[in-house]
Amino acid sequence: MQTRIILGLAILLNACQSSPEPIEGQAQISTRNWAIAIHGGAGHFGEESLSPELQELYTASLEAALYLGETQLIAGASAVDVVEVVVRLLEDDSLFNAGRGAVFTAEGTHELDASIADGASRNCGAVTGLNGYRHPISVARAIMDSSEHVFFSGHGAGEFAHDQGAESASSDWFDTAKAYDRYVGAAEREGDAPVPLDEKRGTVGCVVLDQNGHLAAATSTGGMTYKRHGRIGDSPIIGAGTWADDRSCAVSATGWGEYFIRTGVAQDIHAQMLYGGKSLEEACRHTIFDEMGALGGDGGVVAVDAQGNIALVFNSTGMFRAYSHPDGRDVLMFGPYGQP
Ligand code: ASP
Repeated sequence: MQTRIILGLAILLNACQSSPEPIEGQAQISTRNWAIAIHGGAGHFGEESLSPELQELYTASLEAALYLGETQLIAGASAVDVVEVVVRLLEDDSLFNAGRGAVFTAEGTHELDASIADGASRNCGAVTGLNGYRHPISVARAIMDSSEHVFFSGHGAGEFAHDQGAESASSDWFDTAKAYDRYVGAAEREGDAPVPLDEKRGTVGCVVLDQNGHLAAATSTGGMTYKRHGRIGDSPIIGAGTWADDRSCAVSATGWGEYFIRTGVAQDIHAQMLYGGKSLEEACRHTIFDEMGALGGDGGVVAVDAQGNIALVFNSTGMFRAYSHPDGRDVLMFGPYGQP
C-alpha cells in the first residue's frame, strides 16, 4: 500500500515537473552524417524493480537492434529501410509489446498498431487493429508505398496485408506467457483498482538520419493491456506517435497513448522546430513536460533532427532506449530524465 502511495506520488511529481536540464540530449551544434535512436517502451520502473537478469535481456535486445541499425546506416541504407528493419527485429522479440509479445485486449485477442513516416517524401503509412500478420510495421510500409491511402484499420487492413503478400502468423505466435499473465491479472482486477500502467506497456520505435540527410520514424505496438476492442492508441497515429519531416525531425513516442493523442506529441515537436525555431531538445522537452505531461500523461519520445542531434526525453522514471551516431553510442533504461 505504502509502495503504491509512493509510486503514485512519484508519478504525480514527474507529471507536474517542468522540463529539467537534459543529460542525454546532444549539444545542438553537430552535423553528423548518420544517427539512430530506438525505444522499447517507457514506464515507472527503476534499477531496483528490474532484476539483473531482465536488465541483461533488455540490454542485449536493444544492443542487437542498435547494431543492426548502425551497420545498415554505415553501409548506406535509406532511413526508411533502417527504421523498418530495426522495428521488425523488435517485433519478433517477445520482451516487447509489439508483434510477438503484444499485449492482450479485454477480449483476449491481439490488435496490433504500427506506423511509419518518411521525412524525404513526407509520405506515411499506418495500420490499426491488425491481427494475424507477423510484422505490422511492414504492413504500414506497404500502405505507404503501395496504396493511395495512408491508414487502414481492422478487417480492411488484414485484406490489404493479404493482397500485399505480408507474412501471416497464427495467434500462438503472439501469445506469450508474460502478456497472458498481465491479461489474467487485469481481468481479475477488473472493476477493482485500475491495472498499473507499467503492466500495459512496451511499445517499440526507431528514428533515423541516413547518410543522404533523410529522416524516418517507425513505431509498433500491441497497445495497452486489457484495452477495449477497437481502442486506438497514439502509435499508429501520424502526428501523435510517429512523425518524420526532413525540414525538422523524426519522432517515435511511447507512453499513455490517450495523452499523446490529446496533445499531438510528435507533430507538436515538429511544429515548434519548423515554425518556432526551437532546437530538437527544447521542442521535445516542452512537449513532454509542459504539454503532454502537464495534462497528467506520461511516457517519452526518441527523436533525431537533420543535423544528427538526438533527443531521448521522458517524464516517466524509465524508458528503454538506445542511440548511436559517429560520436558515440549507449543503451539506457533508467532515469529519471534530467537527473544524473
Ligand atoms: N503508446 C502505446 C499506446 O497507448 C503504449 C506504449 O507506448 O507502451 O497504445
